Amino acid sequence: MGDPKQVNINSGGTAANTYDAIVVGSGISGGWAAKELCEKGLKTLVLERGRNVVHIKDYTTSTMHPWEFPNRLELTEQDREENPVQCQAYDEGSKQFYVKDKEHPYIQSDPFYWIRGYQLGGRSLVWGRQTYRLSDLDFEANAKDGHGVDWPIRYKDIAPWYDYVEQFVGISGQAAGLAHLPDSVFLPPMEMNCVETHFREESKKHFPDRPVIHGRVANLTRGWNGRGPCQFRNLCDRGCPFSGYFSSNAATLPVAAATGNLTIQPHAIVYQVIYDERTKKASGVRVIDELTKKTTDYFAKIIFLNASTIATASILLQSTSNRFPNGMGNDSDQIGRNLMDHHMGSGATGAYMGFKDQYYSGRRPTGIYIPRFRNLDEKTKRADFLRGYGYQADGERREWKDTMLAGDDFGADYKKSLATPGPWSIWMGAWGECLPNPDNRITLEQDKKDSWGLPLVNVHFKFGDNEKAMRKDAQQAAAEMLQAAGFENVQPFDYHTTAGSAVHEMGTARMGQDPKTSVLNAHNQIHEVKNVFVTDGSCMTSSACQNPSLTYMALTARACSFAVEELKKGNL
Ligand SMILES: Cc1cc2nc3c(=O)[nH]c(=O)nc-3n(C[C@H](O)[C@H](O)[C@H](O)COP(=O)(O)OP(=O)(O)OC[C@H]3O[C@@H](n4cnc5c(N)ncnc54)[C@H](O)[C@@H]3O)c2cc1C
Repeated sequence: MGDPKQVNINSGGTAANTYDAIVVGSGISGGWAAKELCEKGLKTLVLERGRNVVHIKDYTTSTMHPWEFPNRLELTEQDREENPVQCQAYDEGSKQFYVKDKEHPYIQSDPFYWIRGYQLGGRSLVWGRQTYRLSDLDFEANAKDGHGVDWPIRYKDIAPWYDYVEQFVGISGQAAGLAHLPDSVFLPPMEMNCVETHFREESKKHFPDRPVIHGRVANLTRGWNGRGPCQFRNLCDRGCPFSGYFSSNAATLPVAAATGNLTIQPHAIVYQVIYDERTKKASGVRVIDELTKKTTDYFAKIIFLNASTIATASILLQSTSNRFPNGMGNDSDQIGRNLMDHHMGSGATGAYMGFKDQYYSGRRPTGIYIPRFRNLDEKTKRADFLRGYGYQADGERREWKDTMLAGDDFGADYKKSLATPGPWSIWMGAWGECLPNPDNRITLEQDKKDSWGLPLVNVHFKFGDNEKAMRKDAQQAAAEMLQAAGFENVQPFDYHTTAGSAVHEMGTARMGQDPKTSVLNAHNQIHEVKNVFVTDGSCMTSSACQNPSLTYMALTARACSFAVEELKKGNL
């Protein structure tokens, strides 16, 4: 952010620390809450635990060439030793936007990568920008097969809010008319290359129920709302000086700041929501300054929690009081439970020997997508697993081999191979639904503390048989599609990816109709504390298989509209 107002963390008494609304976290969902609340006239304080990141100025690596990096963008032994979790997601060009594992420890009772970006903008700076709507297939899934609880909303409740956020975000893609993957409001799609077009046409013949569509992505294929367009550099996770993709820093926060209603406080670690026994509402939040470690209380009429799924659950679990001895809004004992992450890293690759005279220009920041085709109806029903997966895929002029994944190509042969582009290839990887399971959860370790004296998060998470069966099918189905389309050297793969790798963690404060079994109602309000709204991934009642952030945006905008109406009516 360039020029938001900033407050001193110990500035005076209650009046000076009082706002209409507080938003905790400035990532994808917090940025949306800030924009909506500020635009509706509320004096809004955004509390962000990380540093300020000034749009464009702080994208220090965004125009660097690979040879300008000391390690040519490769990870070092030091990265692997000191940042074993975060280095799964970063390279030398983007590591400044990820936390340092040593400074931000947590306990993995089961292996789970908790990949985080603590700064203004959160992970909106580094996300992959794949954006897909959920449908009633997803909103009805829990009710139909009995896993988890029923969502309190249906597609019709969120559809106008998808429209609303998409018109602001700008999503490139093409309408496909699929009921189970509703179309967004689209900017023009990026071009498929020749091997992808070939694959699409062949798949139409051999697998008419598995359409191959353009990747839907929050990169701007034309100038949009004063941003972009995308320059096809595919260096998005370093921050984009062209504002070519959606981030809080490029999009929502500047609009919020322009209202004059926004105050941003960086280095502000929120660790509790304060409960007022008299009003039966939250009165504010407790903050510890990241740098000075001093604590301050901030007050507001409404509070939006957008610290991201695991952090938000941890704040709520720390918010104990006489009324809520086990954490605010935790009468149901569901806070921290039902943690989900998409399983990813199974699929297939194949080489195509044709089109040797063709190439492409530019570096497109997305590929193609094959929407879910399993368990859509009786005809596509599987005996071995429930729900399904979609493939993200990518056609390139290079040969896929395992050594490329390890990054250890070397020497004269490698140099020669760079001068000869080799055959075309397609990589297809499944992102699959994860069933809600109350035993997959986070808890707090009261006797193990971080540098700020706050209890460490402990993650307990195992993928179940359903996810495992889906991964098997995802390999076979990808391989049969590639084979049918004339690809050679087709190789199914399973990278045995650690949970958390999809970075789509969600579910720890689920929405539901019944306060006995859920934390939030249909408007993302805590059932028992009506002026606290949770609109990050915590609220998700099931995971579907689509990349989730678009849904967090839509739910946030919807909840903000509701919250402001309720405020006006005097209900909060
Ligand atoms: C490499 C990568 C690729 C991804 N690709 C995609 C994709 O293609 N599509 C997709 O939909 N999603 C993708 N994601 C996931 C996406 O980034 C997240 O779903 C999204 O950012 C979640 O939004 P959020 O607002 O909940 O959290 P975040 O964006 O993580 O923001 C949370 C913010 O809260 C702050 N915070 C945390 N704790 C506190 C506290 N106690 N007090 C104050 N502030 C706090 C953090 O510093 C951060 O700024 C990807 C993520 C990564 C890392």
